[in-house]
Amino acid sequence: AHPVVPVALLLFGLVAILLLTVPTEDVQEAPGFMYGIVLDAGSSHTALYIYKWPADKHNGTGVVTQHSECHVTGGGISSYVGQQGAAGQSLKVCLDQAVKDIPKEKHQLTPVYLGATAGMRLLHISNPEQSAQILQEVGHKIQSYPFNYQGAAILSGQEEGAYGWVTVNYLLENFIKYGFVGRWFSPGKPTVGALDFGGASTQITFATQEEVEDVQDTMKLRLYGQEYSLYTHSFLCYGRDQVLLRLLAHLVKSQGYSESVEHPCYPAGHSRTLNLNRIFNSPCTTKYRPSSYSPRALLTVQGSGHYERCLANVSEIFSFDSCPFSQCSFDGVFQPNVTGRFMAFSAFFYIHSFLQRITGITVNTPSQLQEATKRLCRMNFNQMLLLAPDQKTRLQDYCASSVYVSVLLLRGYSFDETSFPQISFQRKAGDASVGWALGYMLSLSNLLPAERVGLRKALTP
Ligand code: AMP
Repeated sequence: AHPVVPVALLLFGLVAILLLTVPTEDVQEAPGFMYGIVLDAGSSHTALYIYKWPADKHNGTGVVTQHSECHVTGGGISSYVGQQGAAGQSLKVCLDQAVKDIPKEKHQLTPVYLGATAGMRLLHISNPEQSAQILQEVGHKIQSYPFNYQGAAILSGQEEGAYGWVTVNYLLENFIKYGFVGRWFSPGKPTVGALDFGGASTQITFATQEEVEDVQDTMKLRLYGQEYSLYTHSFLCYGRDQVLLRLLAHLVKSQGYSESVEHPCYPAGHSRTLNLNRIFNSPCTTKYRPSSYSPRALLTVQGSGHYERCLANVSEIFSFDSCPFSQCSFDGVFQPNVTGRFMAFSAFFYIHSFLQRITGITVNTPSQLQEATKRLCRMNFNQMLLLAPDQKTRLQDYCASSVYVSVLLLRGYSFDETSFPQISFQRKAGDASVGWALGYMLSLSNLLPAERVGLRKALTP
């Protein structure tokens, strides 16, 4: 035979082997996976999460995992009020990224949800037309992509709390687990409570056997054949950014509305100036607003780094005195006793980790939390900057937010020496970010069956 023929055959064979053995992501994943997208439109920023699960099995826990995430730069969608088109446009970079992250042939099968939280709840209160306009605009933007659009909605506080709880327990495989014998089973593990601390609201959610005296704060869920009775409450205006504004407004008011204000939670010697409008244009600061003011008038804030006065002022933004039920957390809101383990995420995680990092104190108990907070509040700005240069823009606020977290958890929710160590502060569980987004997608895409799945599993080949 002609010598070229075997050489050509050899080359052909080599190329074929190479093509078969060099895996590209698409070749590996395209046949087997389904995808889903959630845009978490928070008050301070929007994040896009892509989840995936094996196309043939979706009933177990742990099978839906996070594929990737993308964080939109700039503010949350509610911050684009009055700038037509800008909220929708802000999502472009992350939606473009999603187009690349998900195999092309799966685009049209991929549901996409946008859920907005407390920033849009506040805008809905102060300006319902503008909030509707922004939701419509972001909806339009998403629909210009090849995915399967499922709507853009504002979640209620209860939904936000409950979906966060679902996420936590799904990721911890507390609902069902896949056993060695090839069957799903109920692990009989107690569930874990969820503590979420966003920019504009904070949520507490946990399963309880105690009577919940306010029906508004109850949620009954049936998952995998098991009934769960949840207590859930969302405190609007108690998220990090709104608390910082309310604290400033409270200081301005209690110091008689002058041009400068002493801030006991800012580091001593540190000062900043801002427009009064920044403080008083939020529905969360209405009760502190002067009867008339010039929105563009400047206010100088002078830090004094005084822990005790900081604690006193932060405590004053809660109301601990009247309770129409047998017991309350604060502001007349019923709360049963906290029970079991908890996962604390979002800003709870950021603040807890900053406190440990800057003070060197491991924060596992109430007294360690107070000790670390006290130490932080006595540091000046340059001391903080040396230890955490990457956090420069947030440094002035960590004392206030740490004091707030300790008042909220210890005095508000009544975590004590026994229950506080049961809180795990984390941002991620496995590879997934902890928040309401995963629970939202699981629920809305029917990936969370109400009934047991063991038998059904046995029927699949
Ligand atoms: P989010 O969970 O994105 O709604 O953020 C909740 C709050 O945490 C907002 O007040 C954010 O400004 C704040 N935050 C976000 N990222 C960080 C961070 N890396 N360190 C401290 N605070 C943060």
